[in-house]
Amino acid sequence: MSTDQRTRAWVDVSARALRENYRQVQETAGEGVRVIPMVKADAYGLGMTQCVKALEPLDPWGYGVAAVEEGVRLRELGISRPVVVLSPVPPGSFLHAVKARLSVSVGELGALARLRDAARTAGLPGRFHLEVDTGMGRAGFDWHRAGDWASQVEALLGPPLEWEGCHTHFHSADSSDPEPTSLQWRRLMGVLEILPSRPKGLLLHACNSAGALRRSDLAADAVRPGIFLYGGAAGEGLPDPTPVASLRARIVLIREAVAGSTVGYGATYTAREPERWATVAVGYGDGLPRLLGNRGEGVVRGRKVPVIGRISMDVTVLNVTGVEGVEVGDVVTFFGRDGRETITLEEVADHAQTISNEILTGLTQRLPRIWTDDGGY
Ligand SMILES: *Cc1c(COP(=O)(O)O)cnc(C)c1O
Repeated sequence: MSTDQRTRAWVDVSARALRENYRQVQETAGEGVRVIPMVKADAYGLGMTQCVKALEPLDPWGYGVAAVEEGVRLRELGISRPVVVLSPVPPGSFLHAVKARLSVSVGELGALARLRDAARTAGLPGRFHLEVDTGMGRAGFDWHRAGDWASQVEALLGPPLEWEGCHTHFHSADSSDPEPTSLQWRRLMGVLEILPSRPKGLLLHACNSAGALRRSDLAADAVRPGIFLYGGAAGEGLPDPTPVASLRARIVLIREAVAGSTVGYGATYTAREPERWATVAVGYGDGLPRLLGNRGEGVVRGRKVPVIGRISMDVTVLNVTGVEGVEVGDVVTFFGRDGRETITLEEVADHAQTISNEILTGLTQRLPRIWTDDGGY
């Protein structure tokens, strides 16, 4: 294990764990179902390049991104599979999307017209997935009004447009109550009934991680997992993912704090008796949430110890009183595995009053992502 990048603070990422989670999604969704890994936001902060390299041998149908620029990056990496931009495309980006042979999600007539114009300009096909809004309310043709827009969509169809897919997005698949998801599905089915001449082989997809793991009955032709691949739990009562990422940093100072010593901005923690404190070289400037002050934990030498005081931009202090042998240079794990101890992403997210997606995408560029097959364990 090379340590040259592991000098201050870093993220260990396991390609094997990523692939294990992918296989679990594939198995649960069913063998014939295609997988569209969501690699938006730099693969949820873990690094799109390495992520795609790890997933390519598993033969995904294609990749999902949120921004045209992300799709262009995939093409620059030599990816020739379909790439779908699954968030609404800004008006000025259609031509870039078409030139990079990306497929774009279309959820209103204006977008379909812009895509057609861009495709004409480029002399290339304008590939799209028609999004139906069944309750998410942020994108897609409104299911309530399908009677109005269906014929207008039909009028725009034909070359250079290529209708590749049709999809919706579930808002509550993480919940154990199946009803909201079933209702959204019924709405989608209702819209499909009145949609114009659908091409053969149209790819139907609806499920995110939670949907794919909970509702294999709704897996349709393809599923779009994100967070579960990256080691985040998908929802209530669902199987745990294999941890993929670990946030680690080195102890850079140890002090014997006398009773009455205070730590951090606002002096929000005071030693009641003599204590041993370790300053660790990671802070909110690295993406360690500031809400973990006086609340979060780290693992050092196989023991969980508390964060004390507020988290600074660059450092965090732990109370390591009673932990045998702690010294400067030791590695602290803030989430992930260390020997027999694990801090899950969910524990960190709970402490920080957010979701694991935000913890991962909040990790800043100051942290090198170190991809190995085993995640450096
Ligand atoms: C991000 C995203 C997903 C993946 O969701 P997860 O909950 O991370 O699995 C799927 N579909 C769309 C349209 C998305 O934007």
